[in-house]
Amino acid sequence: MKKKSYENILSFIKSLRFRVFMIVTLLVIVPVIISSIFIYNVAVSEYTDKKIDRFKANNTMLKNSIVSEGYLDQNNESQIVDAQIAQLAGEYNCRIQVINSQYIVVSDTDSSELGKTSISESVIKSIDGENIFIKNEKENYVEFAEPLVIAAPSITTDSNKKSSIVGAVYIHYSMDDVVDYKEAVERYVLIIDILLTIFALVTAWGCSVLFNRPIQKMHKTIKSITLGAVEGEQNSKEYTEVAQISDEFSRLVERMNTQDKSRQEFVSNVSHELKTPLTSMKVLAESLIGNEGVPEELYQEFLQDICKEIDRENEIITDLLDLVKMEKTDAEINISSVNINEILETVLKRLKPIAESKNIELVFESFRPVIADVDELKFASVATNLVENAIKYNNTDGTVTASLNSDHQYFYLKVIDTGIGISEEDQERVFERFFRVDKARARQTGGTGLGLAITRDIVLKHHGSIKIHSKEGEGTTFIVRIPLKYIA
Ligand code: ADP
Repeated sequence: MKKKSYENILSFIKSLRFRVFMIVTLLVIVPVIISSIFIYNVAVSEYTDKKIDRFKANNTMLKNSIVSEGYLDQNNESQIVDAQIAQLAGEYNCRIQVINSQYIVVSDTDSSELGKTSISESVIKSIDGENIFIKNEKENYVEFAEPLVIAAPSITTDSNKKSSIVGAVYIHYSMDDVVDYKEAVERYVLIIDILLTIFALVTAWGCSVLFNRPIQKMHKTIKSITLGAVEGEQNSKEYTEVAQISDEFSRLVERMNTQDKSRQEFVSNVSHELKTPLTSMKVLAESLIGNEGVPEELYQEFLQDICKEIDRENEIITDLLDLVKMEKTDAEINISSVNINEILETVLKRLKPIAESKNIELVFESFRPVIADVDELKFASVATNLVENAIKYNNTDGTVTASLNSDHQYFYLKVIDTGIGISEEDQERVFERFFRVDKARARQTGGTGLGLAITRDIVLKHHGSIKIHSKEGEGTTFIVRIPLKYIA
């Protein structure tokens, strides 16, 4: 149970649907997150920097006023300076102190340290001439401590007159508003992120359904075929790739159906062919049993007929076994380098008596000696079958020519006869199992209709081809082409 649910999860993870969903989701969400972080950081730092810059400008103005108004000389009384301090403190919500050169706080917006001596390190450093700027991100404040400098006149005769520091301005600016701003930006970014994530999930789901639909359809069709449907419903053509697979699949189903049909046909042909000699034998035997006192000669004749039928049955079974052997994909084929001329000479010699009985001339035409990689016995049976047919379906006084030639790649065996020929429509069918042009005549000639089927299978096993040219009443030519070198 546990294993099954684990397998289910695994198969879901491996599914195209899940992968499309994940890819689209990530393609949207990852850039969204990266750009949110970027936008958030840029917005916050821009806001802070601008604020500080504006603050610094105001600060400089204040410093200039303190010096120009002589604020530290005139008992710290200047309406302009006080107004500026109040405005700056109000606007930025900050604390401003003005400290004289004796480190005494002469103005404090907080009033708590007024008149006291400032011991802040920043103030001491600034009275020494340093500009102090501290930005404390952790505690969220900015601290300025800047010296108040009376500049020396630019043109003076007194070379001893130099710029002098008369005090410092200390400002403590809390950046709580920046935090508020940050939180506001954070809120907006989060809302946008959530909306985009929902959009990503919906889009990803849509894509996964869309991409998966034709495949699901195809799966349904294949399943229905597996469950026994002869033909699947029209497959989806939404995508080129799926259309290609679906076309290939339709072709496969078609081929399987044709194969199935031809197998059924073959079985019924085999049964019929095997039954015919048995029926003849039964009729012959029954007529002998049924008629008492049959003369000896008739007995002899009938028994000879029965023997012929047994031979025929035997012939059919032998051919069938040969055919079945050849059709096995791993059928043994004993390739060796063989002299083709010699094989043909032997075959023709063996068939010469049959040809002579019909007064048929057997001619062997060899253009060159040919040595090729073939299965000697199987190739001999190809030659035998073709020449035998050329004799069988020839007219008395006809000719059969076996011609052998080769080029650098193949050798060619042509078997030409001057016989009855084969009609164009039958030419396509002569390689079918049990096909005979004239069934009635075949009973006399003794053919099984399997010879050419076996011949073609042997030629194909040698990676060769077989073609037929024929004209009714004029004769037939079979052309076999086989590679000189056999490559497994
Ligand atoms: P069979 O054992 O009947 O000869 P084959 O498979 O060898 O079977 O041949 C199939 C049929 O093709 C034959 O029955 C015959 O009708 C036809 N055929 C084959 N070879 C020739 C030929 N050379 N000339 C005319 N018809 C032929």
